[in-house]
Amino acid sequence: MTVELIDQTPCSNIYQDIYFSRENGLAESRHVFLKGNSLPQRWTGKPGFTIGETGFGTGLNFLATWQAWRQHATTNSRLHFISVEKHPLNVKTLESCHELFPELDRLSDELCRTWPGPLSGMHRCFLDSGRVTLTLCHGEAGQVLKELVAEVDCWYLDGFSPAKNPDMWNRPVFREIARMSTPGTTFATFTAAAAVQHQLLVHGFEIRKVPGFGQKREMLTGRMKSRPNIRMKEPWYFPAPPRYASKTATVIGAGIAGAQTAYHLANRGWKVTVLEKHSSPAQGASGSPAAVFSPFLTARPSLEEMLSLQSFAFLLNHLGELDPEGAFHNCCGILDLAIAKTQLLRHEKIMARPFPEWLVRPATREQTRLAGTTAGGLFMPHAGFLNPRKWIEHLLLHPNIKLRLDSKVYAIETDSEGFDTIGLNDQTLSHSPVLILATGHSMTWDETRWIPCTTVSGQSTFIDVSLLNQSPRYIIRYGGCLLPAAHGRHLIGSTFECGECTVHPNPASNQHNLNNLKRALPHLLNPARKSDHRIKTAHNGVRTISEDRFPVVGSLPKRSSFCDQFQNMHSRSSPLSKIASAYCPGLYVSAAWGSRGMTQAALGGEFLASMICHEPLPLQTPLIQAIHPARSLVRSLKRKKL
Ligand code: SAM
Repeated sequence: MTVELIDQTPCSNIYQDIYFSRENGLAESRHVFLKGNSLPQRWTGKPGFTIGETGFGTGLNFLATWQAWRQHATTNSRLHFISVEKHPLNVKTLESCHELFPELDRLSDELCRTWPGPLSGMHRCFLDSGRVTLTLCHGEAGQVLKELVAEVDCWYLDGFSPAKNPDMWNRPVFREIARMSTPGTTFATFTAAAAVQHQLLVHGFEIRKVPGFGQKREMLTGRMKSRPNIRMKEPWYFPAPPRYASKTATVIGAGIAGAQTAYHLANRGWKVTVLEKHSSPAQGASGSPAAVFSPFLTARPSLEEMLSLQSFAFLLNHLGELDPEGAFHNCCGILDLAIAKTQLLRHEKIMARPFPEWLVRPATREQTRLAGTTAGGLFMPHAGFLNPRKWIEHLLLHPNIKLRLDSKVYAIETDSEGFDTIGLNDQTLSHSPVLILATGHSMTWDETRWIPCTTVSGQSTFIDVSLLNQSPRYIIRYGGCLLPAAHGRHLIGSTFECGECTVHPNPASNQHNLNNLKRALPHLLNPARKSDHRIKTAHNGVRTISEDRFPVVGSLPKRSSFCDQFQNMHSRSSPLSKIASAYCPGLYVSAAWGSRGMTQAALGGEFLASMICHEPLPLQTPLIQAIHPARSLVRSLKRKKL
């Protein structure tokens, strides 16, 4: 417990300080942070506005700002609120702090429904039908701000008193604040401490002392006058995003990667044409009758896990918003069994880490007994499965998306205004300043051919319910994977054949899937039943994986220009023009999702849409680099292998 309510005021027992004024927290938020940044006047007439905050705490500043946004901003403008927080509160504490301000009830309810709780990493939540985007960066301020890519219009500096909490007001924090500011960016803070004034001044801000709230005599406000020269690490990964002449985009490929990117752009008012060579969407790797979504947890914190957790939390909100009745998804939970000793060790290490209960907990005896085993395991109560085709069709129904089926793209032509996609008989299928390649394993474009990827073929199998002694209502993972029964059969899977790109159903693969299940969970199988005629191919698809297993998502570099420009990766000079000329402006890729596309491609789509629209990015720089299309070039250039 880090918070105690004393005299109707939340107090931190870590910092021995209060979260907001004893007099009236809401009035204080409005005076210090809104008025101190000349809000709401400053956002009037703007299509979007970005606020950065140090210390989300109870979210009172956020709720006060959201309330003012609803009252004063036009309905089609978007508020981005980014906040850093080292000790995220649990939802119950958040609710009890908000109860002190009944006028915020409705907004508080909505925030608490999407609240990720004390889960580390970066979490993006959409509120108010997408009018408000909240990006929570959980972790130490100096570190998480360093990893943030955003351009901020104003700052709320609110991290307990500098005397009690110097870490929130140190040089690295102000350096990152300055990096994300531009001339005209404002700030406001409740404190007038000399050390804070000094940091603001040396980081390019002009400051003004104004009357504080209630009994506080003074507080600080100000604006950035000139931005100090702050170099980004590994600048070659961050071309300045171009400004596009029109909000039109073409996506090639109507699988999960293409549909998610199209949806998130369409939701921002872009007109998107999706070109699909087949006569219906979701025909490739996304065509399985059911696909599992779940977090991928590792024994120690890893980038892989971070991407997976953030994507999973994002997907749960996304599904909750677009499929509230569960028409095509089911959060039935996953029982992850530790059949081998190595898995048991991994599980022990995972359970020793501070994950919230909603994410993962030890499996109960009853849960493993139903799986017919004495092995231990983990249970992830919100994981589940969805129907990929229905999900993708639903995303593509967005009124700003035009889906063109039977539209195979044979060539891409580029001119100064963007890209023409060329179909059969030299017909121009689309023209737009932005083009996104999301064609799964057919990434044979000149622009992407050099990216080191391989194919994996996978087959899943239907088995009749009568083959099992009992029918578990959650997913069981045992090396393979068994889904709950639907229409009298279970889906099991799946094979994993590297380098294969055939999509022919293979009876031997079905037998392989069944044998796997028999080996891991012999007691679940009904010995009286023969499997002949009771098993059949569910789906056979080919996926793409990259050499390091991370997906490939972002701006596409021009291979030869990139290598020419950055022959010397250790040189400290990387002028913006050098970086710009190493990329194809307007060309993006979302590929190599392997078997994690259903869990992760939603956040991938949101990431690309944010990048294209110059908005704060929902991933931190280590992840942006891990999935970056240029990473293999950077690695080779660093080793002087190109
Ligand atoms: N803005 C908040 C609100 O509306 O309720 C109040 C913020 S409270 C005064 C300060 C917050 O900063 C606390 O939630 C605390 O956990 C967080 N914090 C303190 N030190 C931090 C650090 N070094 N990095 C990130 N967050 C920190």
